[in-house]
Amino acid sequence: MATATLIKRLMRERPHLREPLQFYRRVSELWAASAPDDLTRVLVDPDDRPLRLARGWPLIDPPRFADADLSRTADTWRRLLALMRTRNPALAGAADAVDAAFGTGSRCAQHLAAMLGHQTVPPLPPTVPPDFTGYLVRLALRPSLVPLLIPLGEVFSDRAWNRPVCPLCGFPPGLAEELERGRRLFCSFCPAGWSYTVVGCAFCGNAAEQHLACAIEEVEPGYHVAICTRCKGYLKTVHAHEVGREIDPSLEDLVTVPLDHAAQLEGYLSPTAAVASAFEVRDDRAR
Ligand SMILES: [Zn+2]
Ligand SMILES: [Zn+2]
Repeated sequence: MATATLIKRLMRERPHLREPLQFYRRVSELWAASAPDDLTRVLVDPDDRPLRLARGWPLIDPPRFADADLSRTADTWRRLLALMRTRNPALAGAADAVDAAFGTGSRCAQHLAAMLGHQTVPPLPPTVPPDFTGYLVRLALRPSLVPLLIPLGEVFSDRAWNRPVCPLCGFPPGLAEELERGRRLFCSFCPAGWSYTVVGCAFCGNAAEQHLACAIEEVEPGYHVAICTRCKGYLKTVHAHEVGREIDPSLEDLVTVPLDHAAQLEGYLSPTAAVASAFEVRDDRAR
């Protein structure tokens, strides 16, 4: 997790990102203070895990969320909503509407379990941005998902996997780090990362050179965006030696919000577009 010193330095270097960076700092503090729910039971049974990975399936079995006790996640969720309200006036109305729809305490925990397990969301007014609840639940679940990296590490091997989806939750990557050989992909939903040596689009597999282009790298030094003209997907890619720090996917995601805006203006789509839509960053360079 990024240190307060690093965040301060980034704020000085990138004043246009002050808002999202401040938000990130508050979210990190909230994560550090949050108690996790025990989500071991959303994983498939221990005996089934090696075979599951060998088949290319993730360890989390989403319907199992429906029976999970998410009461601590519900607490984090409500504190995140309160934070959203104060930090981002544009989203205050959406935060109020989500708060009213999900309720508090055990009712909120049940709604979250149903959202993750059955993909059902209580009715929300159209003023709530479509990705808003997904973005929030991702942030709220994080403290409870981090402990699942341990059972994943017991059965997972990068070489045997080498797939463009997350071995823990099955989501596509939200960020990539360029390595000497291949890339390290970071999940768009959970805290897992894994290596991927296949060349081409990580969403549709398109490897035709003319369909993959790198663009808008002048927007943020140390990053490029791999765009795919076939599926219209894009993947923000960081060059760790150029940015000169260890990669913290959640932080990179916020620092590169201008890249999301630039790519989306060109009509490209990302699984983490929610981050960008949550922050209307005023950055002339990205326009
Ligand atoms: Zn994941
Ligand atoms: Zn593609």
